[in-house]
Parts: sequence; structure tokens; C-alpha cells
Amino acid sequence: MTAVPKYQWQPSTAEIAARAGIAVEDVVRFDHNTSPYRPDWVAGAAADATAFASEYPAADYRPLREAAAGYAGVAPEQVMVGAGADELIILAARAFLAPGGAAVADEPSYSLYRIATLQQGATYETVPRRGPGFELPVGRLTAAAERADLVWLCQPHNPTGLRNPDADIHRVLDAAAGVVVLDAAYAEFTGDRWGGWLDRYPNLVVLHTLSKAHGLASIRVGYSLASVDRTAALDAIRPPGSISSVSAALAIRALGDPGAAARTVSALIEERAKLADRLAGAGFRPIAGDANFVLCEVGPHAHDLEAHLMAEGLVVRKYAAGGPLADYLRFTVRTPADHDRLLDAIERNLP
Ligand code: PMP
Repeated sequence: MTAVPKYQWQPSTAEIAARAGIAVEDVVRFDHNTSPYRPDWVAGAAADATAFASEYPAADYRPLREAAAGYAGVAPEQVMVGAGADELIILAARAFLAPGGAAVADEPSYSLYRIATLQQGATYETVPRRGPGFELPVGRLTAAAERADLVWLCQPHNPTGLRNPDADIHRVLDAAAGVVVLDAAYAEFTGDRWGGWLDRYPNLVVLHTLSKAHGLASIRVGYSLASVDRTAALDAIRPPGSISSVSAALAIRALGDPGAAARTVSALIEERAKLADRLAGAGFRPIAGDANFVLCEVGPHAHDLEAHLMAEGLVVRKYAAGGPLADYLRFTVRTPADHDRLLDAIERNLP
């Protein structure tokens, strides 16, 4: 059997702290596109949710699906939940790709699409985005979508942060022979609401997460929006209880308070502009993205800089040597204090 690629995480925070000789709290993750703002009610709500810790969660996750449906403006029958958008990516590959089937995506894009596709024994075709603009190659993607069983599309796009024009998304959805999985992990940062698109496109499966704007990456909750039939197809193959009761309770609370995510989003958008300016001031070329991260062309010393920053407990995202983003680094937007520390370290470590 040919080896199937495995998702490669950066080293753990504990490992980075030990190597840098600093406290775990002093490591700052600029690589995961998580929020620096943990909701203040989390500890109390988590303690309350342990009242039934000895029992299984209700396998239909009905209250969580209702909360997500209310948040997204769709019916609960159009919502499936999973342990993060990541679990839903794996489930979408299993539900909509047969072994020997064909998936297509733009490249670069979120790396789990490739892994989920290949693990399913399907082929993964890519259409390249090219620098410096990295626009979606919509003509080539549309042509490939006519032949594919599944299209992976990230909106706004990771790793560039670019919001693909709506017209491009319509073109892909109109042309696609199979399912289009639209990964909207960063949707709150662009204000996109996908519920209305489901009526027009029965082949659309939208993925959302509590890990980004909601500040709850550790609880591992994501949800999908799709037609009742596609939702049932995901439901049929999901593990019975991959979301803990504690996580479900926290997610329900967060989804019931959209104002909190909206406040996080506006704070981070404000900081994103300042961070991009400061990175430009350091001599980098930031891409004007729409999510909670900034991709920057840094130059041939990108990997050296990443290693220097890592040694100080500042973790940034680098890309494969020889690939189209080898000279780029991606920085998650965090707090002003985190940015001060990052820029100070960058300036000390420039060649
Ligand atoms: N999709 C994209 C585009 C992402 O960037 C991420 C976060 N790395 C995920 C999905 C995974 O999200 P979750 O934490 O919900 O599994």
C-alpha cells in the first residue's frame, strides 16, 4: 500500500517552551490562526457542564445543531456537527469521495484537503495560484470541477487570507459535477453568511468552526451547513460521540452570543491593519487578506527568521522549501502586546 500523508503539526507549545527555556505561558502561537481572546465565561460554564460527566453526550447533538442552525440561519436538519472543521473535512472526503474518485482544489490551500482525499484513496488534482497576487485560478478550477467528484474551496482562503470574489464561487458551484466543500472557517472575519446559498446549490457543503472568531479552538467543535440529504450522508458515517458534553455546552453558549465573536472580529481586524503596516515597515511585503492572519513575502531568509523566532518562543508559519511560499511567513493577528514582542524579535533577527 502506498504511504498516505499525515497532517504535520508544528511542535507542541510545551516542547517549544522547553527548547527555548521559557515558561509555557510565554510561548505565543502566531501559527494556528486562533484567537488571543478566550471568552471569560468559559471556566464557569465548563464546570457546570461536568455535572453529567459520567454519562454519554446525547448522540444526536440536537441542542448543539439547533444552536448552530440559529446562528447560521438554517434549519437544524441542514446542520451536522463534528470535532472541529477538521473532522468534518475527513467525513466529507469519506461521504462524497469513493476510492478511485477525483477531488480538485487550488494550491496552496489548507493542507488537510489533500490528506483527507488521499486517505480516501481518491486522486487530488491541483490548480495553482500564482504570486504575487495569488488570485483563485477560477477558469482552470471551473474546468476541473466539471470532471471532479469533489471540489475543496476555502473562503476566505488560507494561507493568503484573500476573499475569493462571489462571482468565482458561483462559477465553480454552477460548473461542479459533484460536491463543493466550501471551508468557511474564517467566515466571521468577512461577514459571509452561507445559509442562503444552500437553497440555490444542493451540491454545496459549508464548513464552520468555533476555533477562530469564537476563541474556542481547544474545545474542538465545528459544524457543516448543507442540504438535508448531504447532511444525512455526513451523519451516517460520523463517530457516535466525538464531541464531549463539555465542548457541546461551551459551543452552544458561544453560538448564542454572536455579539462576542463580532467584538473579537472587529478588534482583530483593527490590529490586522496595524500588524500588516509594521511588517511592511520591517521590509516585508504583506498580502492584504481578510482573515485573522497576514501572509508576508519575507525573502530568502524566511526559514532562518522562523527558526530564530521559534527559539524565542514565537511560533510563526513557514512553508516548504522549494514551494511557491518558501519565501513567505504567515502571522496570526493577536494582541498589541504580542505584536510588540514579535516585531521586536523580527527587528533583532533580520540579516
Ligand atoms: N479549515 C481551515 C481553512 C483552517 O485554517 C483550519 C484551522 N487550522 C481548519 C479548517 C480547522 O479548524 P478546526 O479547529 O475547527 O478543526
